Amino acid sequence: MSDTIFGKIIAGEIPAPKVYEDEHCIVINDIQPQTPVHMLVIPRKPIPRLVDAGADDQALLGHLMLVARQMAEEQGIGEGFRLVINNGQGGGQTVFHLHLHVMGGKSMAEGTMI
Ligand code: 5GP
Repeated sequence: MSDTIFGKIIAGEIPAPKVYEDEHCIVINDIQPQTPVHMLVIPRKPIPRLVDAGADDQALLGHLMLVARQMAEEQGIGEGFRLVINNGQGGGQTVFHLHLHVMGGKSMAEGTMI
């Protein structure tokens, strides 16, 4: 397991309320939400960045997106949400354990990245 904050949450070393979990991933609310709904979909597998994912992670990556959609629907933002993956320091990534941001609950401006 990664020794990032997310690895510790997955390992149960740091308590964090989970919105959802299954054998492949967990979902938690972001500690510093940027939008009214801001969840993080985190694979249990400690892939540091998206660019570190391999061909054998194809099914896992698809699963994460389907869980993200399910979470958005369950939180009432299924008709309008944004998925974000920050890759690497230059991409704004701060926790080096792959995660998808699921963001919504307010009108997201067209053509903007955040
Ligand atoms: P990144 O910048 O790596 O794409 O996103 C990391 C996200 O993790 C940030 O939005 C940050 O607020 C969130 N985060 C960092 N530490 C914690 C934590 O301990 N608990 C939760 N729930 N979120 C965290």
